[in-house]
Amino acid sequence: MMLKRLELQGFKSFAKKSVLEFGSPITSIVGPNGSGKSNVAEAFRFALGEQSIKSMRGRKGEDLIWNGTTEMPKSSRASVKITFDNRKKFLNLDFEEVTVERAVYRDGVNEYFLNGTQVRLRDIVEMLAPTHIGPSGHHIISQGEADKILNAKMPERKAMIEDALGLRIYHYKKQESEKKLLKTEENIKQVGSLRRELSPHIKFLKRQFEKLQKNKELRLELRKIFGGYLTLERAYLDREKERLVGEKNVPQASLVRLEKELQVKTKMLKTGAPDEKKTRLFDLEKSLGELRVEKDSLTRNLGRFEGQIASLKRVIELNKNTSIEKLNISREEVEKLEKELKDFSAKIENSTDISFLKSIFKKFLQGISSLLRSEKVVEKDNNYEVELARLEGEKSTLELKIVGTRKREEDIQNSFKILQDEIEKEKDVSRDLERSVFRMKAEESSLRAAIYHLEESEKRLSFEEQNFQNDLKEAKVVSGEAVLDFLKKEAKVAPNADRIALKREIEKIKIRLEEAGGIGPDVEKEFNDITARDIFLEKELADLQTSSDSLKKLIKDLEVELNESFKSGVLKINDRFNTLFALMFDGGSASLTVVKERMRKKKNDEDEAGEILDENNPDFIGDEEEREGLDIKVSMPRKKVRGLEMLSGGERSLISIALIFAVSQVNPPPFLILDETDAALDEANSKRYGDMLESLAKSSQLILITHNRETMSRAGVLYGVTMGKDGYSKILSVAFEEALAVAK
Ligand code: ATP
Repeated sequence: MMLKRLELQGFKSFAKKSVLEFGSPITSIVGPNGSGKSNVAEAFRFALGEQSIKSMRGRKGEDLIWNGTTEMPKSSRASVKITFDNRKKFLNLDFEEVTVERAVYRDGVNEYFLNGTQVRLRDIVEMLAPTHIGPSGHHIISQGEADKILNAKMPERKAMIEDALGLRIYHYKKQESEKKLLKTEENIKQVGSLRRELSPHIKFLKRQFEKLQKNKELRLELRKIFGGYLTLERAYLDREKERLVGEKNVPQASLVRLEKELQVKTKMLKTGAPDEKKTRLFDLEKSLGELRVEKDSLTRNLGRFEGQIASLKRVIELNKNTSIEKLNISREEVEKLEKELKDFSAKIENSTDISFLKSIFKKFLQGISSLLRSEKVVEKDNNYEVELARLEGEKSTLELKIVGTRKREEDIQNSFKILQDEIEKEKDVSRDLERSVFRMKAEESSLRAAIYHLEESEKRLSFEEQNFQNDLKEAKVVSGEAVLDFLKKEAKVAPNADRIALKREIEKIKIRLEEAGGIGPDVEKEFNDITARDIFLEKELADLQTSSDSLKKLIKDLEVELNESFKSGVLKINDRFNTLFALMFDGGSASLTVVKERMRKKKNDEDEAGEILDENNPDFIGDEEEREGLDIKVSMPRKKVRGLEMLSGGERSLISIALIFAVSQVNPPPFLILDETDAALDEANSKRYGDMLESLAKSSQLILITHNRETMSRAGVLYGVTMGKDGYSKILSVAFEEALAVAK
């Protein structure tokens, strides 16, 4: 026997602590109407976790708590404890005795305890589930509920029988699996859409990643080429520097030497100047000029003297031959006159001015007159001879002077010639020097040009060196310090490799890198992350698919199992049902038959599940669906019955009892509470009922709330429930005779 004890305190009419011990397979609870017997059955439901207050005849939790009377104040809490004997370990707990307790407070709060420890409702429900003693199970038949199974619609009836057969677990499992399946399908959808969402990003990142790889390759190539280029460039620059230094040495040395020489020669050219000689030459030239003027004047005087001497000689001669007076005019004066006349003639040549001509003519007359006035008549003088002698003397003196002058002129001319020769000679020497200076200067400028050219080359080289340093910096930036390794490694690059071609190649790669655009290094990480995530999701999707498949299979298996168990259960029930029916009605037959009904689904899914109404009902316009149900077919002895609704209350009660007992025999519950199930039975049937109770008590503990004497007589323990004037229920253990009295 599993059920050991029930303890109520503050529950409904049980204001005080009341205890019922269940030491017998059959316990009857008797008492007058309204004493609180049904409250005991409800106490079982309550303690086992019933959530429907309605099924315990209340509207809210508070209704289950002792409400008080004038004598006894109301309770703040209602509590019910059920104690099970667990020595056979029918509950999966390592205790010999298990107490389940539930308490409710006025604010509606519920508390659950397992062996005194507070637990959740779920813990209680889960613990009891394997024993099929849930709060609303078929093992508690409330008052008036006996023919519930008869009144139920066929699908509901099927559910009730499944329940009684302990097949609810399949439904739970199926529902659970369906929920899981639904969740799994949702997850599949979610993961699928997540993957679809990721897909373009993955594609994008893949392209970026590939570009990055390409860039990496390009960079590596760039590093290699840079290494080669820098090596070559370095070698070229060093070589060029060395060459230029060497090449510059020669012209520089030559220039130094040349400049020294040039200095000396330039000095020489300056100091050897013939200025002093030239002055002397000039002086000589001047003296010679003066001497010639003197000589000319002497010669002119000599001519005059000679003229005077000749004319004096002619006068002397004429004086000797004639006495005609003649004009004595010197040649010189006549020539002067001739000149003036020539000048006049030239002046008047082109003149038409008569007054001017008159003035000229006047001047001419004046000239003639003055000439005539100047002329003296040479007196016949005897002193002509004296004068001639003086003139001759003067002439000789002059002639001597002229000879002297000529002599001096010759001397000066000689000196001049000598000096001139000297100067010419010196000029030749300085011209050579000049030519050599000129040559040297040409050489100097050519040397300077060569040096300038070399310096230009040096400048170009330093520009190239600067470029090299820039390239080196850039190489470090573009290819990292590692490029320096290349620089060392690639030192053996073929010397004839074209460094310009390499440089061009570098520029090309740089442009390609630039065109490829700056792809952040985080792309690789992001791509790896997202790929890993996608692989993870793909795996998850596969896992979900597997679990969806296995859930579908599980559901199918459960359905098959449920169906098979149900069918075999129904077969067994039918066997018992038929027997019990025949026993109750003294013949006839009864059976449950599985039927299929086409029903319309409810419009509103949130309404009570499973409720099926007539398809003509305007509220139910959903899709049609086929549902299985259980029909009860009875064949009454000696009667022709077409439908259950045609039977009497007692008959209906008997069929219900037969069915409940049949089910309980096929799948016996640990205990069965029957609240006035026997109410409608007559004496003969009460006896049959009593017999069936005894046979049922072999497999299930029975708690019978009854007014029936026959039923009472079958009980091992009898409890009387009384309610005095104080208004609360009391439990008392009574003997059969007392029970009869209490029951009434
Ligand atoms: P019958 O034989 O007529 O079925 P019963 O013995 O089964 O009667 P119950 O229906 O169990 O009687 O008890 C009903 C009694 O319990 C009523 O008197 C009702 O007033 C009392 N009752 C119910 N709830 C409370 C409550 N919260 N506080 C006090 N008394 C309550």
